[in-house]
Amino acid sequence: MSIDALPPLRQVIAAHELSARKSLGQNFLLDLNLTAKIARQAGDLSQCDVLEIGPGPGGLTRGLLAEGARRVLAIEKDPRCLPALDEIAAAYPGRLEVMIGDALKIDPLKHLSSPIRVAANLPYNVGTELLVRWLTPEEWPPFWQSLTLMFQREVAERIVAAPGSKAYGRLALLAQWRADPRIVMSLPPEAFSPAPKVSSAVVHLTALPAPRYPAQPKLLERVVAMAFNQRRKMLRAALKGLAPDIEDRLIASGIAPTDRAETIGLEQFCALARTLG
Ligand code: SAM
Repeated sequence: MSIDALPPLRQVIAAHELSARKSLGQNFLLDLNLTAKIARQAGDLSQCDVLEIGPGPGGLTRGLLAEGARRVLAIEKDPRCLPALDEIAAAYPGRLEVMIGDALKIDPLKHLSSPIRVAANLPYNVGTELLVRWLTPEEWPPFWQSLTLMFQREVAERIVAAPGSKAYGRLALLAQWRADPRIVMSLPPEAFSPAPKVSSAVVHLTALPAPRYPAQPKLLERVVAMAFNQRRKMLRAALKGLAPDIEDRLIASGIAPTDRAETIGLEQFCALARTLG
């Protein structure tokens, strides 16, 4: 049985001629049981507004609504998807608002009421850019309670990586500084149409009430970006451009100047960012 009374997604895609466009990273989820399962990973939606980025033909949107989201605001770049999304809005009166545009350029906040959860299956480059933005506002806690995001498996592993591992870097540090990220689902390429070349994973991030260690987001971002840009170099060389007395600052932060970025934990990176504030 389907999760709602709307036509199957294959039929929707055919009726509205939504052939997938590579330039928009379109790999659609067609199995509504799967999209409902992803929606359940976002937590209890009944009291929440959900911001969905990149709804496409609406598979995940239908999952979110069927799972009880109070309201969904869906931002989609491809205007061809609008008729399919309008059909969903008609089936769930007053609960789905669609905005056509680039999620990187739209400020959705005036259309949403707290508490807010975010859910998305996006092209990975857009997803990564939005994730970093959502993690690095000046003020904390942020507008969102949780983020439930699909990524390429390799990107998901970078978000949850621990120090010392190959995947550890900027994404792990920013995600684990102010949130608790977990991989909650793995999906094979065949779950999508067309099938991408690589596997995917859903990452669920819960916002922490306060950052694990104090630091200014812009400074922390700058420090970790520089440190991992040249991850094989010793930190005194990789961070040379940050401050003339970088060796002293490293030592004051509990970091040996000869250490490499991948062995350094969040606490020390935050301490180093604080010496620059
Ligand atoms: N959520 C749908 C699903 O799961 O079947 C579609 C997923 S598809 C991987 C990504 C969607 O994001 C596409 O519909 C694409 O048009 C949309 N998209 C790509 N870049 C976007 C952007 N910058 N802003 C909003 N939507 C975007």
